Amino acid sequence: TVLSEDYSSNKKILNRNDYIGNMANALCFDIQAALEKKEFFLEYQPQVDETGVVLGVEALLRWNHFLYGRVNPQVVVAIAEEAGIIKKLGKWVIEEACFQLAEWNKHGSVDIQMAINISPTQLNDKLVDILVNIFRTTKLNPKDIELEITETVAFGTNPETVNLLQEIKNLGVSIAMDDFGAGHASLYYMKHYNLDKIKIDGSITKDVIHNKSCQDIISSITYLAESMAITVIAEYVETLEQAEILKKLGCRQFQGYYFARPLSISQCVKAFNKSKNIRDANDLE
Ligand code: C2E
Ligand code: MG
Ligand code: MG
Ligand code: MG
Repeated sequence: TVLSEDYSSNKKILNRNDYIGNMANALCFDIQAALEKKEFFLEYQPQVDETGVVLGVEALLRWNHFLYGRVNPQVVVAIAEEAGIIKKLGKWVIEEACFQLAEWNKHGSVDIQMAINISPTQLNDKLVDILVNIFRTTKLNPKDIELEITETVAFGTNPETVNLLQEIKNLGVSIAMDDFGAGHASLYYMKHYNLDKIKIDGSITKDVIHNKSCQDIISSITYLAESMAITVIAEYVETLEQAEILKKLGCRQFQGYYFARPLSISQCVKAFNKSKNIRDANDLE
């Protein structure tokens, strides 16, 4: 089985006496087991418009490890990539998020989009199959699904990636560029990928109040994006002050602790039903 193969390769690396390597390998073994034991779950962080109305949620991977506690999803993803099980994990995330949205739709309480993070290794033909299958089983409208790809990870500049993204868009799915402005190739991707949305990276949002060049960067991005019919969402919005200045600089959507933290399923249902402006849904805890 895959499990025993992973285990035997663990042993080799354990002999190298590399602590970090040990951790990574131990975790890799655990990820495989956790998938089988259904230990992963998702939280959903609202994305809102200028008036605080929820337009969508971003699905975020969560794992309470029996020994290490909450493992940062970036670590989980990095290790899963390394260990070659990211496709399996990524497929689980897509299916879980889609089933959840279908469930919410069924109860008629929401009309929102589901954003799902995709790692570069997942960007292959299989992804289209996974999406087509899940749309068939859930009857979801592909327009309600958005894939977030991140520019800090090299997506490559090969035409295959561009074509694959277009193929996914042809299904009706939207593409968002995550952590926009954190990497080096922002403008390149803006030009070559037919993006629907860009998410301004937290490192830019964080300094927007006091840093004039952050403000200039954001207004340039929103100006360019508008001319290309790309929606701009600011992430890591933690204060009203930030939200207001970001609005002035041309951001149309917002995500961050000021509006809502990543929420459990039951918190989501409350947040969706409570009121129009998510800030008014105060007793989410
Ligand atoms: P991301 O896609 O940029 O997700 C946003 C991250 O910022 C989340 O961290 C969220 O909890 C955090 N965040 C949101 N608003 C605020 C805020 O106002 N202040 C601060 N300080 N943080 C805020 P999280 O959940 O720890 O995820 C970290 C990263 O892990 C994600 O960054 C994404 O790159 C990756 N990730 C998470 N889930 C998945 C997944 O299912 N698949 C893949 N491939 N990557 C994932
Ligand atoms: Mg994201
Ligand atoms: Mg993001
Ligand atoms: Mg981000």
